[in-house]
Amino acid sequence: MPIIVSVPKETVPGEQRVALVPELVPRLTEAGLEVAVQSGAGELAGFFDDGYAAKGARLEAEVFDKADILLKVQPPTIAEISHMKEDSVLICFLQPYTNAAAIRALAARQITAFSMELMPRITRAQPMDALSAMSTVAGYKAVLVAASRLPKFFPLLMTAAGTVTPARVFVIGAGVAGLQAIGTAKRLGAVVEAYDTRPAVKEQVESLGAKFAELGLAAKDAEDKSGYAKAQSEDFYQKQQEMMSKYVASADVVIPTALVPGQRAPILITEEMVRGMRPGSVILDLAAEQGGNCALTEPGREIVRHGVVIIGPMNLPSTIPFQASEMYARTVTNYLAHLLKDGGLHLDLEDELTRGPLVTHRGEVVHEIVKARLCSENSTP
Ligand code: NAD
Repeated sequence: MPIIVSVPKETVPGEQRVALVPELVPRLTEAGLEVAVQSGAGELAGFFDDGYAAKGARLEAEVFDKADILLKVQPPTIAEISHMKEDSVLICFLQPYTNAAAIRALAARQITAFSMELMPRITRAQPMDALSAMSTVAGYKAVLVAASRLPKFFPLLMTAAGTVTPARVFVIGAGVAGLQAIGTAKRLGAVVEAYDTRPAVKEQVESLGAKFAELGLAAKDAEDKSGYAKAQSEDFYQKQQEMMSKYVASADVVIPTALVPGQRAPILITEEMVRGMRPGSVILDLAAEQGGNCALTEPGREIVRHGVVIIGPMNLPSTIPFQASEMYARTVTNYLAHLLKDGGLHLDLEDELTRGPLVTHRGEVVHEIVKARLCSENSTP
């Protein structure tokens, strides 16, 4: 019996992406798999049923109960998990550190679940790096949203009606999203400054034509071996806030993107700093999903405080669903291809690429950090 790979329609409100696009169906069928797509699954992203069918997929009304391998964007709900086949495989963004109930339910149902967020940062894994792909989308869209809310132009304009000075944009955290935001803001003509605790980033910021903000701070042990930022002390964050105040105050748009994996985003912009900004300025907090880098951010909302517009978007990649789906689907199919051998699943648990994103397997939570979090949650009174 061939393995059935299924793709459901996403049900989380506002989610417009889909985990597989028609162009990638032949990649799976040529590997000996059968592809079943839930009718309408790609519609919101601009991929229609006939496109999937033309590439060799079967369209079905329901896909959860027949899937041997389920490809998704968002984690399945508990109800969806209860419809999944026992011993099946799930690949999606699992939100592994905040999704205890679903993770327990997946383990109880003997589902082998891989979390795309936990892809190791090694060269081999780059084509499977869904987080970076989505950060690229978010960094780009963040600038467009901020620009459309700012009551000013971004570029310098010399017109018969006078000269327009360019907007000033300050990006905090110059990882994948931050660098994309810097590049997009530069292309729109803004004057861009940026800061990151990882010293290696300075050159990348400058190569995009932005100025690196020299705060005179030395982050201790700034990054781990995977290139992720390490958390700093409260004392460091307080100094960082003080040193960044003048950059924040002189900016028209601030785009904080600073994250530390597995933790709440550090607070880098205090209410006092917001008060120091010009009315009409915009903070687009790209760290909102992890609590936000601005103390006033309300995740999922746009608010005005002290005359400053503070936006805390929850799922920006979903607002460019066509290419976000293409990019995500490529990372997922690349990962699935890694797990396949001779038309069947081959899980080499010695391989860090297989083991790294694996969260549940054979009825157990097997990812050490996720397991430790679940245990500490259990022991919390
Ligand atoms: P991220 O989304 O976890 O964090 C965003 C940025 O916030 C990071 O650059 C981080 O240094 C920064 N940050 C954290 N605390 C900060 C603070 N207090 N002040 C200012 N900035 C702060 O990171 P990311 O964008 O996913 O990736 C970070 C880096 O990892 C990339 O720039 C890249 O060099 C590397 N990377 C490697 C691979 C790979 O090897 N496969 C893949 C993706 C990224």
